[in-house]
Amino acid sequence: MRELPYDRLKAYEGQPVATAGAGKDLVNEPMIRHWCEAMGDANPAYRGPDAIAPPTMLQAWTMGGLSGHTDRSGAYDELFGLLDGAGYTSVVATDCEQEYPRPLRPGDRITFDAVIESVSERKTTKLGTGHFITTRMEVRADGEPAGTHRFRILKYAPAARMTKAPERTAAAGETEAAEETEAAERSKAPGQPEARRPRPVINRDNAGFWAGVETHRLLIQVCGGCGTPRFPWLPGCRGCGSPEWHTVEATGAGTVYSYVVMHHPPFPAFDPPYAVALIELAEGVRMVSNVIGVPYDKVRIGMPVQLEFLRVDGEWELPVFRAGGGVAG
Ligand SMILES: [Zn+2]
Repeated sequence: MRELPYDRLKAYEGQPVATAGAGKDLVNEPMIRHWCEAMGDANPAYRGPDAIAPPTMLQAWTMGGLSGHTDRSGAYDELFGLLDGAGYTSVVATDCEQEYPRPLRPGDRITFDAVIESVSERKTTKLGTGHFITTRMEVRADGEPAGTHRFRILKYAPAARMTKAPERTAAAGETEAAEETEAAERSKAPGQPEARRPRPVINRDNAGFWAGVETHRLLIQVCGGCGTPRFPWLPGCRGCGSPEWHTVEATGAGTVYSYVVMHHPPFPAFDPPYAVALIELAEGVRMVSNVIGVPYDKVRIGMPVQLEFLRVDGEWELPVFRAGGGVAG
């Protein structure tokens, strides 16, 4: 990592990221309904003849989808290239602010402009040293100002890696995982997965699960209110709402409840085809895992499996399931 003259970075402030961008769809009821279902938001304001769109959907109307954007300026890429070249190769999303001067309604036609609002001086954080970059997008509906979306990232040179996955927020973890995946893609040798597996997001709600894995115990939460076992780990019971819980250690016996065989897309660190299974544990909960000890095309629903711990990338372990039973590690 080398220090870049701050004037050179500051020169990007005010430069366009997107000019006269246009939403790919009008604001529409199906996207609103899907969003509300995904978020579990039953607010009646988002339904019926006078429906408005959930304000937090603002960015959704401006997204390029899988086919991407055609209206991006080169300034953002250029700034990223400059920072990459100086060794600030990692990126993490830090925060987002939105303002909603006017509600969006089905039929509104979305246009937007985005600029690089600010580039910070060099800062050192727990993740590493780098620069915060804020972009500001002004969203219009039928030409009227309808929202402002500010999005901040840290473009940084990673501090030395810890041997264990550090605690971090979900948003930061996902972005970092995506970034690690991209980095791994670039370094992958043909035919063999040399990339590192994506790391789990460890937070206050699931730290106990990963602590159990470290000592080769698969821990299941049990509700203190109604006694229902649950997995994955959650802060409360979805049956009775109780925040009280304790854990039981799974015996490790299970069966394949369902599975898919993954062919495409090929992710670095994985070597397709491989089977991804939903395992039903003897305790009654289900978890997504890998089935080992059997070719991918021999995995079957109902197949008995037994827990093992698989060492990955030489430094951390994952619970996986061996076909036909075996001895828990
Ligand atoms: Zn409960």
